[in-house]
Amino acid sequence: MSAIPVTIGRRVPVSAASADVGVSAAAGVAAPAATIGAPLVDTHGRVHRDLRISLTDRCSLRCTYCMPEQGNEWLAKSSIVSLDEIVRIARVAAADGITTFRLTGGEPLLRADIVEVVRRLAAITGPGGRPVEIAMTTNGIRLAELLPGLVDAGLDRLNISIDTLRRDRFHALTRRDRLDDVLAGIAAAAASGLRPVKLNAVAMRDVNDDELVDLVEFATGHDAQMRFIEQMPLDAGHTWDRSRMVTQDEILATLRGRWTLTPVPGRGGAPAARWLLDGGPHSVGVIASVTAPFCGDCDRLRLTADGQLRNCLFSATEYDLLPILRGGGEDGQVDGMLRSCVHGKLPGHAINDPSFLQPVRGMNAIGG
Ligand code: SAM
Ligand code: SF4
Repeated sequence: MSAIPVTIGRRVPVSAASADVGVSAAAGVAAPAATIGAPLVDTHGRVHRDLRISLTDRCSLRCTYCMPEQGNEWLAKSSIVSLDEIVRIARVAAADGITTFRLTGGEPLLRADIVEVVRRLAAITGPGGRPVEIAMTTNGIRLAELLPGLVDAGLDRLNISIDTLRRDRFHALTRRDRLDDVLAGIAAAAASGLRPVKLNAVAMRDVNDDELVDLVEFATGHDAQMRFIEQMPLDAGHTWDRSRMVTQDEILATLRGRWTLTPVPGRGGAPAARWLLDGGPHSVGVIASVTAPFCGDCDRLRLTADGQLRNCLFSATEYDLLPILRGGGEDGQVDGMLRSCVHGKLPGHAINDPSFLQPVRGMNAIGG
């Protein structure tokens, strides 16, 4: 069974996998031998603690910056990782020091067994019996209905995406008239005991950049933290245009027209830099992946809904777990694949390099 990384566009058939666990052909250098229980440290010293698990590439919305309106090529149903397969990977990852599982997609709430996924993952413990944290990033649709069950199952934290508060804009941006469902989901999150609730918006020029202050006020009114994301080249249509991107500096300049912003220290591996609004307690975050990359502190790995490990959103290489999971492989081989993936991680994402090539998968199929 193999730890063969696959460069996208030249996918190796499942049956072509070989037997050397822990060898990264991408780097051309042997990864450390598999040892379940050792931390996942890459060649740049970064310790990995966060595994983002994409549960599906399907979605109830069609956000312009993420998915095409039509013509999606969905992942084959037979390749979607089952609940048992997810739990098996997560157990090994937790033993290797992963402390947070973030469920994402596509839209994670579309997965029929979502409550069971949360329940089974929440029962996993790391070394010394340390509990894991279960977080979710969702578009909020169906959240109002599902939240009690998710909290009961062990969900710890929620990020909900909302790019606009205006119904016509929401419809145009997501190609679906579902703003009311998202607002109901946010209201349910605010009424729940989960804290902090984070709201995510991709800032877009001439689309929602006149709503930044309104979005922050909406968030604080729900005791939530607003976070603005710089738009990244991850849309399925490959239409990203750097010159039209709203930058962190522009976002902060707009917000400074309304609040005094004080930087919050101690960001650690978090993607968002934060500022207190008028001294607090509320704060706003900016995820400046393009103009202020935070790769040096990245502690994240990703598992796609079809069982591919990725060490970066922008990586061109994937590490296929399906042959191990479905071919009678052992946990040590899952561990070996995690280590190969970590070992192959580059120091940074190179979006700003002229030779940068956008990943073939859209954001919905990678897992945000
Ligand atoms: N469907 C869920 C949602 O929208 O929250 C989870 C998956 S979505 C891919 C995760 C996050 O990625 C969302 O906050 C979304 O706004 C963000 N996202 C998607 N495409 C993006 C892009 N091209 N640039 C920046 N953020 C993006
Ligand atoms: Fe769906 Fe989330 Fe992508 Fe929007 S950003 S299309 S909600 S996966």
